[in-house]
Parts: sequence; C-alpha cells; structure tokens
Amino acid sequence: MPPTPASGRKSPDAGFAIPPLHLRCLRLEECNVFFEHTATPDAALRHAVSNVLRLLYPSALLDADSSAAPAPVRSVTLHLRSFDGVAYTCGSDLDNEHKELHLSMSYLEGVLSRSNGDAKRVEHEIDGVLTHELVHAFQYDAGGSLPGGLVEGIADWVRGGAGLAPPHWREQPGECDRWDAGYERTGFFLSFLSRHFRDPLLVPKINLAARSNTWDDGALLRRVLGGEDVEELWALYKRTFEDKDRGTDDAPAPVPTHGPRSGYGVGY
Ligand SMILES: [Zn+2]
Repeated sequence: MPPTPASGRKSPDAGFAIPPLHLRCLRLEECNVFFEHTATPDAALRHAVSNVLRLLYPSALLDADSSAAPAPVRSVTLHLRSFDGVAYTCGSDLDNEHKELHLSMSYLEGVLSRSNGDAKRVEHEIDGVLTHELVHAFQYDAGGSLPGGLVEGIADWVRGGAGLAPPHWREQPGECDRWDAGYERTGFFLSFLSRHFRDPLLVPKINLAARSNTWDDGALLRRVLGGEDVEELWALYKRTFEDKDRGTDDAPAPVPTHGPRSGYGVGY
C-alpha cells in the first residue's frame, strides 16, 4: 500500500503521495546556517522526497510490478540541531512509520567553514544529505537483514542520481575496498551493475526485493542479478579501472565514519 495520507501532495512521477512534512528547531540561533541556505525548507524537503520516489520507485517499475510501492511513511519530521556526525533517520517514538530526520547544524557550519563560505556548496550539501536520509525513510531493508553497506549504497546511488554528489566522491575503488563498503563506493558499483545488465531498474528491483525477502546469505541479491555472483561482478568492476588514467589518485579520500544510531557520517 502506498502511503497516501489525504493531505499529501502527489509525486510528479509514479504518483505516490508525499507525506506531511514537519520541521522542528528548538534553538533558532543554532539553526541559522540551515535557514540562511534553505530559503524554503518545505520546497527543499518536498523536492528531496520527490527525487527519492522518482529514482527508487519510477513509473517503469510499476509497469514491471504493479504492486511496487514505497515503504509506508505517514510523516517526516526534520529535526535541526547540533550533534556529532552528519545526519540520521529513525522511526519516531510513536511508531516506525512516522520518520524523524536529524540534521546536524554543527556539521553544516563545518561545511560552510571548509568551503570558505561557499553558499552554493552548503545548499548542495543540505539537498544531498536530505536526499540520502530520505532514502532511508522510504527504502526496504529485508526486515533489517540487508547488509548495512548495501542500505547506504542505495542511499548514495539515489543521491548521485539526483545530481547531488559532493565534490569529494571518487569512483575508483581502492585495492582492498569491498563491494559492500557502503556509501558512494557501493553506490558507484550499483551504477556499474545497472550498466552491466543494461537495466536502469536494477537498483529499484533490489530495493523492492528487500520488501518481502530476507537477505538469506545473499540469495536476495543473486536472484536480482540473474544468478551471477556479486564478488565476481565486483572483481570485473575493479578490472575496468586497470587501464584507466589514475591521475585522480591524489584526490582527498572520503572518510566513512558511521555516526551514532547508524547515521550518515561521510566526511566532507
Ligand atoms: Zn545513510
């Protein structure tokens, strides 16, 4: 059942309704960095939800499976406050279908400072983190059995697909990187798999498979990949870089640091 509260607005693509969106800010002076870079928070949140629904539940997916629908979300409340880490999403005390998205103001202050006051960079980061976190609200996780790296990889696959990749992302994996390292490392690999299988719906299908199946030692993913082994596909993916120019090796490496409560902690 798609979440279709009466007050929700329609998504521009598959028609899934956007649930009611709320904003909570207790210390206004602490949240200036958000409001100075988000003139219309309601529009920013709505746009991020639309991107998540458009990319993870495209209308073409419904053509393939008419029962396809996002995980039920009855409301989303964005909490603005300072804490260590970047952001995290969780169910509310009421129930798991009322989602809380916590975004750290001290993190945004850090982005502003490190970008030498580049307002566009801060706006872009806010949109990117909101999009990543909202994936967690609407995605499936195989009853909690989906590997955390795949959960985070899908979130950054959506973020990248929405055109919101931050400047530190680099596609080339390191020698010891694993396919399920998470974040953009897994996100780029998911894009490769979509190209490899010539299936733009591959990631939405993986997500949908996690609605009613458990991970089952990787059987969930193997089925979507037509029986192919993900480790062999990862090795194939890494070989595609062997002949490529390694001129970007000196780029600053992202620092994946899971924050409290499995939050988004990719370093800027
Ligand atoms: Zn995340």
